[in-house]
Amino acid sequence: MGLGKIFGSSVKNCTCVYLCLQILNTLATTTILAIESSCDETAAAICVDGKILSNIIASQSIHEKYGGVVPELASRAHIQNIVPVVQQALQEAFPVAESFLHTVDAIAFTQAPGLIGCLLVGTQFAKSLALSLNKPLIAVHHMQAHVLANLIGENKPDFPFLCLTVSGGHTQIVLAKSPLELEVIGQTIDDAAGEAFDKTAKLLGLPYPGGPLIDRYAALGNPLAFKFAEPQIPALNFSFSGLKTSVLYFLQKQQPGFIEANRNDLCASIQYTIVQILLKKIKKAVQETGIQQVCLAGGVSANSGLRKGLSHLGEKHGWKTFIPAFEFCTDNAAMIAITGHYKFLAGHFADLSTNPSARAESIKLLSY
Ligand code: ADP
Ligand code: MG
Repeated sequence: MGLGKIFGSSVKNCTCVYLCLQILNTLATTTILAIESSCDETAAAICVDGKILSNIIASQSIHEKYGGVVPELASRAHIQNIVPVVQQALQEAFPVAESFLHTVDAIAFTQAPGLIGCLLVGTQFAKSLALSLNKPLIAVHHMQAHVLANLIGENKPDFPFLCLTVSGGHTQIVLAKSPLELEVIGQTIDDAAGEAFDKTAKLLGLPYPGGPLIDRYAALGNPLAFKFAEPQIPALNFSFSGLKTSVLYFLQKQQPGFIEANRNDLCASIQYTIVQILLKKIKKAVQETGIQQVCLAGGVSANSGLRKGLSHLGEKHGWKTFIPAFEFCTDNAAMIAITGHYKFLAGHFADLSTNPSARAESIKLLSY
């Protein structure tokens, strides 16, 4: 049956309607409000047609005195922060709009992995908003979002690309075939790279999180001053717990005052070892897959040694390398928004019965 018959009008009219719809479609924008609450950052962002208009983060300093994130305190802080953070994200994105919430097409939120109490706050908030506004809901995997942070901005990789995701909780090499087809081809078998920074920093008496401090002192030290264990792990997997033990045993053998006298060299040598472990595996991944576009993601990609090391490797071997802006490397909602954008375009929506999940594996998502 022809289209004209269905609508009881001529095919010519139908063509006209079709063209009008096409024009409207081209003019239509996709606006995503995204919420991230998986750990100790409450964040919200607005993304319109893949462009980030606002990216607000409220960090929680309360954990510093405990030397790590206290889950219950983090959940409570999310409850306090979430309304003002979302409000600020909307106001920054739409400074002149009257009822900007109604311009949002979908609400994306971090569903997994993370601290369950923290995820619950963001999930319940997103669900309530979706229900009250009658807008679709998009569940986002935090690790997928870290990878897709590389698609924010003008300088993006083409598909397929490799991504080294290095954060406080994860270390993965991901092969990205498209925004929604990601495969983990290597990962840590024990500590994450961020944990290796934080735990060795603790051995040196530095406060949590120690990664940025190691980076700062390392800039003033000699990376070859001390040699620490580099594990030999098969395939594209990583291990960092041996490094921590090696630093511990080394420090136990030293005289009092040794750390203070050698802090810069110790930090430079620890950073050098962690960066070498990461770069050797990414080099292997390029050799095995033949993919020469390499991205970084996650909080540890803020590390200056890793950034320089990857850029240097890229120049040496002719790879294209991509490192997101710092604000998109650590936990943020812009990466949830860009992932929400691609899921929206693909029609991947969640229903109101969706629950958060603390574990990465329990989510039915792609290869994660
Ligand atoms: P998660 O999502 O697992 O909480 P993030 O992606 O927020 O982790 O990254 C936090 C981790 O990044 C921490 O382990 C922190 O020490 C580390 N980190 C942040 N900046 C640096 C840096 N400049 N050098 C090394 N590690 C860093
Ligand atoms: Mg993270």
